[in-house]
Amino acid sequence: MNPDFIAQAKLLDAEFAALSADARIQKAFEIFGTGLIATTSFGRDAGLLLHHIHRLKLPVRAYFIDTGFHFPETLAYRDTLTSTYQIDLRESASTDPYRRRYAVEKGGALTITDTQACCGVNKVAVQAAFLGRSDVTAFLAGLRRDQSESRQDTPFVHVQKGKIKICPFADWPAEDVDLYLKLWEVPEHPLAKLGYTSIGCSPLTCTTPPVDGADRRSGRWAGDSKTECGLHLDYEP
Ligand code: SF4
Repeated sequence: MNPDFIAQAKLLDAEFAALSADARIQKAFEIFGTGLIATTSFGRDAGLLLHHIHRLKLPVRAYFIDTGFHFPETLAYRDTLTSTYQIDLRESASTDPYRRRYAVEKGGALTITDTQACCGVNKVAVQAAFLGRSDVTAFLAGLRRDQSESRQDTPFVHVQKGKIKICPFADWPAEDVDLYLKLWEVPEHPLAKLGYTSIGCSPLTCTTPPVDGADRRSGRWAGDSKTECGLHLDYEP
């Protein structure tokens, strides 16, 4: 990896620590221009990043990975936020003809037999393809440190998969996210009112509402040692 690139990320990370989320996003756009994209899963807190981009009037493309396993409510939420905030949405999906090979019906419910491999095909490889585009130099992600133990050291800026990754809300506590979404009347994900605090793919192996008192991401791959799909790791399938 280009050492200059890593040095640039380190400098920006230090600089961003003293800035607001608005200023971080604006500065990122000043530096990377239209090479800056946003990434979104249209999960529970997707409106936080998308509303910022809309409010700041930045021409930033938003990339969404269609895994083929999303809840219908997530696809409806995608449509709501996209039209409400006039998002320049780009959808990407795996072109592997056997992309659903790990999905099986068990007792009337869809389950995934190998979640690591399924995420590899349907998320990580798809992300690698759009991050590999020559017109993408940096990407924004909504990751926050208080979402889980595995995210507690999330930097504001670092290099991931060869591109500059910016997490403008890394230091935001969940309470501030909820307050922002409420104050700006950002539409709510339809599953939020059913107790889902982190919303990924629909198979039971992948998303369930967390039990009371558990952290917000504990319903993701519940009962499995897996805590990340790989999109936020330097992992390649
Ligand atoms: S979250 Fe589940 S269904 Fe979605 S890509 Fe990963 S393993 Fe497959």
